[in-house]
This record gives sequence, structure tokens and C-alpha cells, in this order.
Amino acid sequence: LEYEAARAETLMVLSEVAAGVAHEVRNPLTTIRGFVQLLQVKLGEENEYSKYLQLILAEIDRANKIISEFLVAARPKEAKKQLVDLNKIVTETLLLVESQAILQDVEVTKELSDELPLLELVETQIKQVLLNLTRNALQAMPDGGTLSIITYSQDDWVWIKLRDTGVGMPPEHLNKLFSPFFTTKEGGSGLGLTISHRIVKNHGGTIQVESSPGKGTTVTIKLPVTKGGN
Ligand code: ADP
Repeated sequence: LEYEAARAETLMVLSEVAAGVAHEVRNPLTTIRGFVQLLQVKLGEENEYSKYLQLILAEIDRANKIISEFLVAARPKEAKKQLVDLNKIVTETLLLVESQAILQDVEVTKELSDELPLLELVETQIKQVLLNLTRNALQAMPDGGTLSIITYSQDDWVWIKLRDTGVGMPPEHLNKLFSPFFTTKEGGSGLGLTISHRIVKNHGGTIQVESSPGKGTTVTIKLPVTKGGN
């Protein structure tokens, strides 16, 4: 399952990168097209190169069409939001990493508010975020420690806090965390937090990381409670 999640992450980022590249390629194509048209005008209707210029224009149009079709195909499908119990997602995620926690001598504590409102979420996505974060926390505690997860709500917001007593990170890493491919791990993808950040943002929430080297890291996610009817 972790492998599947990592693969899905990689594909998602790659298709986004590819879409970005495709979009950017259009700009020089537009420039080229403009100058070829200018040449056509300058050289007059019936010139000895008009056949070639026509061909260049037709090929540019063909390339543009391929890009447009690709961009449509690469557009992410609108994922379905449902009313879900965040505590349930937390519990299910913890179950997935339980064996790893035991193996690493990590104690997992949870304090889940029993007054949490249901949230309108794409369940699989939020589960992926929590899996990424707990996985990071466990990887930061190779020699044991504590992972604590709490949920609470206030006004129209719900918070999830994940705190680990792991290696932490230096301040200069904090602003790179959400950049694609930033990793300090051998074989790391550097995509976990990038994806998590995007998912939380797409849900109208925020994600915040505090850390101190040698002491541990706290990740705080804040999600909006959407009132029924919208
Ligand atoms: P990856 O796990 O593949 O490296 P992430 O985007 O999930 O990708 O994390 C990026 C980097 O952020 C990690 O390589 C690590 O340096 C740092 N990091 C993330 N979570 C933690 C944590 N809980 N404790 C310490 N460092 C962390």
C-alpha cells in the first residue's frame, strides 16, 4: 500500500511537471508562428518559399494541437468529496503503520476529540497525507521515541497535530520542505510533503511545520468545516 501511494504521488507530480512543460513550450511556438507569418507578409503572396512557410505554419499548428489535447488529458479529474470522520481516518492510518512503530520501538499516543464535526473531504487524499506524515515521523525516529497525534476543533476549523520526538531538522530546511524533490533521505522522493501540502491546500486548509534539531518535529494541519449546502 505504501508503495502504491508513493507511485501515485510520483505520477501525480510527473504529470503536473509535464503539463507545465507542455504549457511553456507553447510560448516559443507562438513566437515562431508570429515571425513566420511576418516573413510571409514581407515576402509577398507568391514567393519561392511560400510552400515551406505554409508547411512550417501547419506543423506549428499540429504541435499546438497535440499540446492542447495533452493538457486536456492531463487535467486532474475532480475527486469526490464526502462527509467523513477525521478521527476514523487517523485511526485507520495508525493501524497501517503500527507494525513499523512496534519494530522501531516507537510509542504511539492519540488524543482524538470526541466532538469533532464531520468534514467534507476526499478521504483517500487525506489518508495519504496522514500516511506521508506518520511515515516521515517514524523515519525520523529510528531509535524509538513517541509519536503523538491529537485532533481538536474550534469555531469552523479542525486541527490535527502530529508530534514526533525524532531527529528534527535545521531551520534552513523548513522553507524547502514543500518543494518537489527536496529530500535528505537516501532513496527518498522528496514528494511526500509537496503532495501533502497541495492536498491540504485543495481542501482549503493549511499545513505548518515546526522543528528543532535533536528534539523533534510537529506538523499542524488545519482544515475548514464546510457547512452543509455548499
Ligand atoms: P521524503 O520523505 O521522500 O524525503 P518528504 O517531502 O516527505 O520526502 O520530506 C522531505 C524532507 O523533509 C525529508 O527528507 C526530511 O529531511 C524532512 N522531514 C520531513 N518530515 C520530517 C520529520 N518528521 N522529522 C524530520 N525531518 C523530516
